[in-house]
Amino acid sequence: TLEKETFSFQTEVGQLLEIVAGSLYSNREVFLRELVSNASDACDKLRYAALTDASLTPSQSFEISLDINSKAKTLSISDNGIGMNHADLLETLGTIAKSGTSAFIEAIKADEKDQVGLIGQFGVGFYSAFMVAAQVDVLTRKAGETEAWLWQSDGKGAFTIAPAERDTNGTTVTLHLKKDAKEFADQARIRHIIKTYSEHVSFPIKLGDDTLNAAEALWTRPAKEITKTQYTEFYRHASHAYDAPWHVIHNKVEGTLNHTSLLFVPSVQPFDLFEPERKSHVKLYVNRVYITDTTTDLMPAYLRFLRGVVDSQDLSLNVSREMLQTDPQLAKIKTSISKKVLSELKKKATKAPDEYATFWGNFGAVLKEGLVEDAALRDRILDVCRFASSGADGLTSLSEYVSRMKTGQEAIFYIAGEDAAKLAKSPHLEGFKAKGVEVLLLSDHVDEFWLQHITEHDGKPLKSITRGAADLDQVETDEQKEKEDKADEADLSALIAAIKVELGEEVKDVRPSKRLTDSPVCLIADDGDMDVNLERLLKRHGQ
Ligand code: ADP
Ligand code: MG
Repeated sequence: TLEKETFSFQTEVGQLLEIVAGSLYSNREVFLRELVSNASDACDKLRYAALTDASLTPSQSFEISLDINSKAKTLSISDNGIGMNHADLLETLGTIAKSGTSAFIEAIKADEKDQVGLIGQFGVGFYSAFMVAAQVDVLTRKAGETEAWLWQSDGKGAFTIAPAERDTNGTTVTLHLKKDAKEFADQARIRHIIKTYSEHVSFPIKLGDDTLNAAEALWTRPAKEITKTQYTEFYRHASHAYDAPWHVIHNKVEGTLNHTSLLFVPSVQPFDLFEPERKSHVKLYVNRVYITDTTTDLMPAYLRFLRGVVDSQDLSLNVSREMLQTDPQLAKIKTSISKKVLSELKKKATKAPDEYATFWGNFGAVLKEGLVEDAALRDRILDVCRFASSGADGLTSLSEYVSRMKTGQEAIFYIAGEDAAKLAKSPHLEGFKAKGVEVLLLSDHVDEFWLQHITEHDGKPLKSITRGAADLDQVETDEQKEKEDKADEADLSALIAAIKVELGEEVKDVRPSKRLTDSPVCLIADDGDMDVNLERLLKRHGQ
């Protein structure tokens, strides 16, 4: 039989623990929320596993129980969920850092002020135990297996795993509280924390014989009975967030495909929003049984900023996570939810444009990916897109732009580049400004890509002003006309010839232009050629 083994934390995990244990003193009661949420996840996982493996069907109903030893100053959190075996312990508690750990460590070093917020977003999860504990013991037994294990650590570089005894499946996490964290061995304090953070965990959380929480699935209750505070608490619990949601979308669809969704738009941008491996954060339930929170088949990638849950009775409970991909019912739910979210965004954009501008600043670049990804909903997405413009304070929609177009103006003009401030000062804009013609200033990476798909709006073509034929001759202003009449064009031919000789092969052509008023020259692409900025982008990506 096995003896006690000692392992080192992976470097990143070690660094993470140092940050967690050393520098955080405000708000540290959230460790309890994290451990309760792991216990709840473990029950969800076993309930799901039992769907396909009858031998795993639990003997008692799921619950989470807390135990306080006020003499020994310990607090423990037990569940009768899935449990962990030796391999699980090694993989999840210490030797393999979660993806994004290094990015998180960088972020937290850069922003000392908002460490707790960052920790929430990243989900240090289990490791938050070390905020309050000098030593953590994890006694666990995996459902369907007979061996139990004891994982122990003081969070300082190493942990041990040893064979142990446990009567039933599940996990008990015992915290040996630090000297300055004895308050967490106080019943009243613990009750209060559970009420604050874990009221809507859907399994009972017990202290002795008392159940401390409502233990119901909040989303199943009618929206009009739920208070704003309850929504916020649920959001924080379900998504490990610290902010208040920017918007809540709670929607019940009845009919051919019943489903309920309770979705939250965060008010701050998660630091990993643009990490390639960032997954969906919306949890899928079938008739209150948790199925998964990693499927890409429930929420489109361009709505990946959403948090919350989707629950449907009309999906098969026996559906495996792998089969979700080909489930036509799920595809329908996905479309229905996407439409609902877009229509809610549209309402916000119309009724509260200032609030919408905040949302747009956080998630606009993500939403615009939908213009490329989701051809079926492209028009609806475009409808809620907002853009900076040379002619308007704040943001504008394409339709608003069109309504302000000058007589004789035939195209929606835009300039795309990396830096919004630079774009606003671009010499390309001068002629347009002089004529009072608005130009959209597009500075997100994704802009170049949707512009390949959307070439017109409301019958008006979208035109880059860094291309040859962005022609302003049709647009009349009186002042401009006078100036033009006086311009001495004959003198330019000698100058142009001289410039051509000087630049040779570097340029395709040199032309006089009316688009400039203050700057002497600018670079443009020919109509059939690639836009200057797109060319630069593709070069950077090695193409
Ligand atoms: P997350 O919950 O976001 O996955 P955590 O750091 O909270 O991250 O937990 C890491 C992993 O440890 C979990 O994904 C799970 O596999 C395992 N784990 C933690 N607590 C428990 C528990 N009570 N029962 C079973 N597994 C657990
Ligand atoms: Mg967790």
